[in-house]
Amino acid sequence: MSDDARPRLIIASHNPGKILEFQAVLGHRWQVRPKADLYVGDVEETGSTFVENALIKARHACARTGCAALADDSGLVVPALEGAPGLRSARYSGGDDEANNALLLKNMATLEADDRAAFYVAVVVLLEHADDPTPLIAEGRWHGRIAAAPRGTGGFGYDPLFVADGYEQHAAELSAEEKNRVSHRALAVQQLLQQLAA
Ligand code: IMP
Repeated sequence: MSDDARPRLIIASHNPGKILEFQAVLGHRWQVRPKADLYVGDVEETGSTFVENALIKARHACARTGCAALADDSGLVVPALEGAPGLRSARYSGGDDEANNALLLKNMATLEADDRAAFYVAVVVLLEHADDPTPLIAEGRWHGRIAAAPRGTGGFGYDPLFVADGYEQHAAELSAEEKNRVSHRALAVQQLLQQLAA
């Protein structure tokens, strides 16, 4: 198949790291293009689940371009806080990552050690077109717990507080290679690939 024969797949994200990652794993069968290349703007994420928000973003990119589109949505879930920060992970405190981490610690201050379980979740969806009734939906979860104090300078978001099961280091102390091998996003992408191969 020549390059030109590959169908276009729009990545509904502005994040250069995610775009490269999706290009690397899907480029053999799609012409992978960031949404900015096709002047696709942002859309309001009005869903109440990660899946709904990913579908809203992918459907918007399909509708604007007439191409297939892939979108993801992710966040941190603390079951003892009824799922918070959840869909509001990026804007939990209204401030930056450090403020989000500080608010999370404050809200967990009275919890027992057993209640500090948490997981990251990433959902990746692929729509062939805006009216596609059978989207591919893949989900990855990375389980662990929230530590009492931040450690490390790598990663982003809640990584200074997140200690994955099986690790002593906080996620912000892991190398990018290690995190990208085992994280929620890596699991979701692997699952999506399995669905595409099936
Ligand atoms: P998005 O789906 O990339 O917009 O991520 C939403 C928010 O979830 C981020 O701003 C972070 O607060 C949180 N989050 C998602 N994935 C991670 C991660 O791998 N490490 C730390 N925080 C994350």
